[in-house]
Amino acid sequence: KTQETLLEVNNIEVIYNHVILVLKGVSLQVPKGGITALLGGNGAGKTTTLKAISGLLASERGEVTKGTISYKGESTAARDPAELVKMGVIQVMEGRHCFEHLTVEENLLTGAYTRRDAKGVADDLELVYSYFPRLKERRTSQAGYTSGGEQQMCAIGRALMSRPETILLDEPSMGLAPQLVEQIFGIVKDLNEKEGLTFLLAEQNTNVALRFAHTGYILESGRVVMEGLAADLRENPDVKEFYLGMS
Ligand code: ATP
Repeated sequence: KTQETLLEVNNIEVIYNHVILVLKGVSLQVPKGGITALLGGNGAGKTTTLKAISGLLASERGEVTKGTISYKGESTAARDPAELVKMGVIQVMEGRHCFEHLTVEENLLTGAYTRRDAKGVADDLELVYSYFPRLKERRTSQAGYTSGGEQQMCAIGRALMSRPETILLDEPSMGLAPQLVEQIFGIVKDLNEKEGLTFLLAEQNTNVALRFAHTGYILESGRVVMEGLAADLRENPDVKEFYLGMS
């Protein structure tokens, strides 16, 4: 299938605190309806790339100093996260970030706080519960007392409540047992296939990410060093040796 590019990052440089150059010319394209993986080790610049897209850099004293980012052909420069959400893009931050003192359901509803369509919100809550039955079981539990996997589900569910078109998912596998990682990636795949959601996901777990993604980019020290179809990257000897540990 031929795919429209939803998100286009063109040669961006990002600097923190006016001095620390972290992204040194990153370009990537996210096709509509695809799962795109952003791979690379610790500190390669994955999180920074996602934050540059979602408007979250400013709060970290980071700045895009070169290059452009556009969503559906419209520049996202100078837009804050709330404006990006309106455009259809939302980031699920690393570390899950649930409100610990709120219940699971209250957490989910915070994702819909700008919406005025009560019926739509109620329907979307049921939609989230259909993908994450575990969250329904835990809906009256205080989020702080739920497991890491449940909190990751809650963070994704909350993002879904804003009715996004594109989800930027930062390190969904972090700190989770392999079985849960499979489960969460399986749900991401279902959301992609059944709801048509587009994903850009940052992962250190190359193995799992390349099994679920369609295309991938590998970052090293703020540069894209490899890109291609996930199936091709999986077979690439360098990827096998350096990222899949199969030399
Ligand atoms: P990780 O998996 O550890 O999150 P990453 O690939 O997502 O890795 P980034 O978090 O984007 O990498 O970090 C890239 C580089 O930018 C690192 O060297 C990091 O120390 C630096 N960095 C990140 N955030 C800031 C900040 N707020 N101020 C200064 N430097 C930062």
